Amino acid sequence: MKTVSGIPVFNGDAIGNTHGIAIGKVFVQESERLNVGERTILPEQIDEEIERYKLAVNASYDEIASNRDNVLGSLGQNFADIFEAQILILQDPRMLREIKNLISSRSLAAESAVVIAHNAQIEIFRKLDNSYIAEKINDIRDIEKRILRHLLGTRSESLRKLTEPVILLASNLTPSETANLDRNFIKAIVTESGGFGGHTAILASALEIPCVVGCGSFLGNVQNGDTVVVDAISGLLILNPDDITVQKYQKIIDAGSSRIENLDELRDVDAVTADGAKITIMANIEFPHEADNAIQRGAEGIGLFRTEFLYFTQESDPTEDEHFASYKKVAETMKGKPVIIRTFDFGDDKESDRHGAFAPERNPALGLRGIRLALKRWQLFRTQIRAILRASVYGNVQIMFPLVSTVKEFRQARYSAVKEFMDELEHDGIPYNDKIKIGMMVEVPAAVVMLDHFAEISDFFSIGTNDLTQYVMASDRGNRNVSHLFSSSDPAVLRMIHSAVRVAGQTSTPISLCGQIGGDPMRIAILLGLGLRSISCTPSSIPRIKQICRRIAIADCEKIAEKILLFSNAADVKDYTIREMINLVPEFMNKVS
Ligand code: PEP
Ligand code: MG
Repeated sequence: MKTVSGIPVFNGDAIGNTHGIAIGKVFVQESERLNVGERTILPEQIDEEIERYKLAVNASYDEIASNRDNVLGSLGQNFADIFEAQILILQDPRMLREIKNLISSRSLAAESAVVIAHNAQIEIFRKLDNSYIAEKINDIRDIEKRILRHLLGTRSESLRKLTEPVILLASNLTPSETANLDRNFIKAIVTESGGFGGHTAILASALEIPCVVGCGSFLGNVQNGDTVVVDAISGLLILNPDDITVQKYQKIIDAGSSRIENLDELRDVDAVTADGAKITIMANIEFPHEADNAIQRGAEGIGLFRTEFLYFTQESDPTEDEHFASYKKVAETMKGKPVIIRTFDFGDDKESDRHGAFAPERNPALGLRGIRLALKRWQLFRTQIRAILRASVYGNVQIMFPLVSTVKEFRQARYSAVKEFMDELEHDGIPYNDKIKIGMMVEVPAAVVMLDHFAEISDFFSIGTNDLTQYVMASDRGNRNVSHLFSSSDPAVLRMIHSAVRVAGQTSTPISLCGQIGGDPMRIAILLGLGLRSISCTPSSIPRIKQICRRIAIADCEKIAEKILLFSNAADVKDYTIREMINLVPEFMNKVS
């Protein structure tokens, strides 16, 4: 643990946006490590807590019983007996009584009561030293973990019941947990694991919640109710700050609010460079309500609607009508501006309980995700495509397929799937736009290399630098251990972007970019210099990007791009770009510190 003037400070990846700093009280989301502290509840919550505990026991019973049945079929009664014994431990009436008693007499949260009761039982067994008992202890730990997993899985319940704004600290958050966070009560998020390109980071930035990911272990040093500062500009978590530190950061927060107000003036202004090139700036969104935000920030369209998040926010899959309502709302809000709806991209770190591969995969990033999965889940795909087609008469709706690797996949998606679903609508007399534009993400190296072939069948391209970087650099986008390799400004990635833009130009195919790099003020000049004239980014980044576009000239951007394409590493690209940007637009490059 690092300290600055005696104050513990943890470094991580800053997922900065315009509201990059927060000061507040901590709420710790317990993790899979199941390291549960002694948490108390209010007396009026006792009944509800006992109910939560009972539900966790029932869910654990279902799992163990299903294990028992499976093992009985495959391995026989002897092995099934192992699980039978676990059921007896799980349902031991003394243990059930003891845990309920701890919850009601000491106002303990269910998970704290479970840990205390199981520890006490294990202590008794430890004193009886024999190997049978060692096995028994293993069983008790197993059951304890299982119950805790169910309890902590429902921890988002307590997150939903927050009554005052907090700073959420967690070992990690799944995309669905992040998607369900209430922006009114979460001032900032800090996680121990995860990385800049991961979906938790992307979602936090979409929700405009300051976020720092990949800080390493810090949960052992912090408790609910502690005060912390989250600096999502520099990537810092500061525990128990002194008054001077709080005052320093409060000043930055105040200065930040006035800067944001000034940026509002840019809403209706075009992004035209100093030498007259028009740059189209669109928004990436994850939820329909963000379309209003996109308009507020001056977006000229929705360049990427990540629809998989529609599935994460509810218990069951959205119906065709629910999909339709979401897409129609966005299309109408955008009033004829492009709305590029990307079909669901489950898999990799955007896994949900109901979707993803049919069986666990050793290497999910290289597995069944994106369009690969859609082509195997015909009904799920059909529901979504029919809804998009139905919404296409309410605005400038377009379809985009994720993670396309081969021409064959694109053909199947466009000429088998979409065609079939169009024919169905036609047959039923349901209106849709039969000229709807259908394009693809360019985020797999194979697609970049084969882009001239894709140009014959795809109406447009959008470069996904998050995945492109992951695959070009062979560096998991959410893994801090390899985050030093995950850089979208590595010359290898930039050369790929350059090549894609060149081929798109030669084949007159519209091309945009919707990866995280598009919202980075420091790197916008590189992208323009590589030939891009259309960018889609998080709504909160739009005003700043517009402002910079209006101050720089394409001629200068091209000089920067020409130079960096010759560099051998990302660090040189970064140093050179910072120097150039400080020369070109010094007023935007001052760090807030
Ligand atoms: C990308 O990969 O760059 C992208 C925009 O898609 P996602 O981040 O949703 O994978
Ligand atoms: Mg992607």
